[in-house]
Amino acid sequence: VIEKGMPEWSAVTTCAYCGVGCSFKAEMRGEEVVRMVPYKDGKANHGHSCVKGRFAWGYTNHKDRILNPMIREKVTDPWREVTWEEAFAHIAKEFRRIQYQYGRGAIGGITSSRCTNEETYLVQKLVRQGFGNNNVDTCARVCHSPTGYGLRMTYGTSAGTQDFDSVDYSDVIVIIGANPTDAHPVFGSRIKKRIREGARLIVIDPRRTDLVRSPHVKADYHLALRPGTNVAVLTALAHVIVSEGLVNEAFVRERCDWDEFQDWASFVLQPENSPEAVEKVSGVPAEMIRAAARLYATGGNAAIYYGLGVTEHSQGSTAVMAIANLAMATGNIGRPGVGVNPLRGQNNVQGSCDMGSFPHEFPGYRHVSDDATRAIYEALWGVKLDSEPGLRIPNMLDAAVDGTFKGIYIQGEDILQSDPNTKHVAAGLAAMECVVVQDLFLNETANYAHVFLPGSTFLEKDGTFTNAERRINRVRKVMEPKSGYADWEVTQKLAQAMGLDWNYTHPSQIMDEIAATTPSFAGVSYELLDRVGSVQWPCNEKAPLGTPVMHVNGFVRGKGRFMRTAYVATDEKVGPRFPLLLTTGRILSQYNVGAQTRRTANSMWHPEDVLEIHPHDAEDRGIRDGDYVKLASRTGETTLRARITDRVAPGVVYTTFHHPATQANVVTTEYSDWATNCPEYKVTAVQVSPSNGP
Ligand code: SF4
Repeated sequence: VIEKGMPEWSAVTTCAYCGVGCSFKAEMRGEEVVRMVPYKDGKANHGHSCVKGRFAWGYTNHKDRILNPMIREKVTDPWREVTWEEAFAHIAKEFRRIQYQYGRGAIGGITSSRCTNEETYLVQKLVRQGFGNNNVDTCARVCHSPTGYGLRMTYGTSAGTQDFDSVDYSDVIVIIGANPTDAHPVFGSRIKKRIREGARLIVIDPRRTDLVRSPHVKADYHLALRPGTNVAVLTALAHVIVSEGLVNEAFVRERCDWDEFQDWASFVLQPENSPEAVEKVSGVPAEMIRAAARLYATGGNAAIYYGLGVTEHSQGSTAVMAIANLAMATGNIGRPGVGVNPLRGQNNVQGSCDMGSFPHEFPGYRHVSDDATRAIYEALWGVKLDSEPGLRIPNMLDAAVDGTFKGIYIQGEDILQSDPNTKHVAAGLAAMECVVVQDLFLNETANYAHVFLPGSTFLEKDGTFTNAERRINRVRKVMEPKSGYADWEVTQKLAQAMGLDWNYTHPSQIMDEIAATTPSFAGVSYELLDRVGSVQWPCNEKAPLGTPVMHVNGFVRGKGRFMRTAYVATDEKVGPRFPLLLTTGRILSQYNVGAQTRRTANSMWHPEDVLEIHPHDAEDRGIRDGDYVKLASRTGETTLRARITDRVAPGVVYTTFHHPATQANVVTTEYSDWATNCPEYKVTAVQVSPSNGP
């Protein structure tokens, strides 16, 4: 694929793990990649990388990859290898049969934040144009959907406000519910560097992460809140800012709706939002809340970075709005060094959301009920489009259990392992008549599949990923797909089998269609990306090379909107049977459910999930370091080893979810964010007891 004499960038591609989006140069021997070298001109990583990215090429050649399509009538039958044509014809026949028998809305699709923008765009197009409904959702449902809701309500668009380089201008950095040194290592290193240069640091997290205390970095304040109390603490910070006269009134008067601000200010001043009241709820000392609020409001340029510890709660969307309120109230928005920045977990979470993977939105976050937007796609795609939102992933599973949803196309997502309440996911999948899984490996979800379609790795296809700073990075094919087709070709072949007239010959044509129909991608093309390296959306006539910092002269929605953020305790309560609170996260060497990292050279690090437990709680239960323990909640139980540590507070335990042997999500609950259904992974009442092992 790469030939002698081609420009250097022809071998430069983008890491397929986290939302930092590091650029790498693939070094080839013949048709095989032998090394990934961080690219010096990569705008997100400036020549740096982490241990995951360096070894990312390894899973491309792994023996576990499935390279031929497979079919089986019942999920208890053995798999039967078939030709691609037979697989596409079978799926098309089954999906059409289901729709004839049960109705147009009985099938749907799930897009992947691991796939490219172009592939994600095609899956939502297939569902809308080919399935005739809006039953399309993305794995962002289970991570950053509250970011989409919260930032759209307050600022008018669903994206981080800054570029990564902006951190070099920050005087105060606030990290909430994120562990960037493990989950976003290259950007985590930049934060550490900025702290060493003198920036002040506030960490809001139940667990003592490396940024709180490590050999070269120490946080000024660690607000070690009880899991599930983010909204209470964030609103108490606002209480201090308003009550002590720290509001940037000039900014608020000019840039925000003043009436809504006044309503919000009177709300945050209510006694239940005072630091003293919130100390009782959250366990964070009132004086520390006051000190952190004063530092954030008066310490110069203050930037907030947050992760899934904010979003994966029953009040995830409320917490995002509470963060947005803080930035508006203090004028920390619209210039380098400040802002509100979601740290995206997967390589293309931002992109999968941008590309219309939600059941209520077309690409560019335009609601399906918007007549003008529907008219654009109806003219282009030649069909009448549904103006009603479709089903979200949890609703699809509920409907499957109820018998009204019967078929699903899942591209690059292992919902059985990654979604909450595993038993319910399994019940939903088991109730369907045609489950199609497209992936690199036979993942856990494939246990319930009737058709398996081989996926392609990031090295085997062209496309783009959009990282956490809205940067559209090129993914470049450096080797032919081992299965014969790249993922975008598979979706196109399936669409053709279902009777759609799709004839893309290269992903650049898909990007051209996206750019022509999505205002924030106006002018984006592969030619532009090859010429300038990458661009950050929004791109438009005024900003053809993109927009590093958003909301500079005004918010996307016009006036910034303050939202009331009343704290409501989660229904998940500790009690005599389940007295501890479980929260979850990631470690440096592994990535998400581990399907890729466990098949690379870094699989030797952290070969199992462990449960962190405080020495007092361990002693109470007779547990020693390294012992097997049973972790049980009201939804299920699993077994793993204990690690005794004071990184977690008494009453709190913590684990990761990288290994299928653990299946951490058998214990997580059905509770979810009130606005978006994002699961409440971060708060589960559990009991821990000694065990003899799995
Ligand atoms: Fe960069 Fe993230 Fe890949 Fe590490 S995992 S190399 S930080 S994109």
